[in-house]
Amino acid sequence: MIIFIYGLPGCGKGTQSLLLKERMSFIHLSTGDIIRDIIKNKKAGWEVLNEYSSSGSLVPDEIVNDLFMRAIDEKGYGHNYIIDGYPRTINQLKLIEKNLEDKKDIDILHIYLSCSEESIIRRITSRRTCMGCGTIYNINLDNDLEKCKLCGAQLYQRADDSYEVIKNRIDEYTNKTIPVILQLKSEGKLIEINGERKAEDIYVDIVNIIKGKR
Ligand code: AMP
Repeated sequence: MIIFIYGLPGCGKGTQSLLLKERMSFIHLSTGDIIRDIIKNKKAGWEVLNEYSSSGSLVPDEIVNDLFMRAIDEKGYGHNYIIDGYPRTINQLKLIEKNLEDKKDIDILHIYLSCSEESIIRRITSRRTCMGCGTIYNINLDNDLEKCKLCGAQLYQRADDSYEVIKNRIDEYTNKTIPVILQLKSEGKLIEINGERKAEDIYVDIVNIIKGKR
């Protein structure tokens, strides 16, 4: 099974992906994480990726398509995947569809977490990530927490989680990713879930959808 999870930046895609990874052993593929890893470790091409991602702009399709295909080809298709942050443009969607064309035995789910722009801005500017294990916290709900409750490592704010960058990320989403969502919806392929609820409640919905598919 391959689940593609969609939604505004900060709508909870990462949290749901981690839950599916921990509790149901899904492989979590996040193009954002792949890009952040290249930048952090100054791997080939990191400067270009940094330029786009630090301003909240999408990385060009040909670069991100290549990164995505390499990541999935490395592991093969015989696993359960939760794919977060890809596809984000019509071109990326076309690549996915072409690659999955001959894999009719794989169940594909497109899940959309819907959230309003205001709640996203509130949520994202208070988001902190653990440097050690990647657990995501909301410091508004967690009394200005500074260290991870699970592993004790320092929490940090992602460089692209500031207000100005968020506005640009939302514009990119509106212009380039909404068309992907509308296309999937018009084809009857999109499953919409209200993302403005507790993570656990959203997770229960996702598990029920998975069970219904099996
Ligand atoms: P994310 O963590 O998914 O919000 O991604 C962080 C940043 O990485 C985005 O703002 C983009 O600059 C870049 N990025 C991640 N996934 C994609 C994608 N599918 N297409 C283009 N750029 C991407």
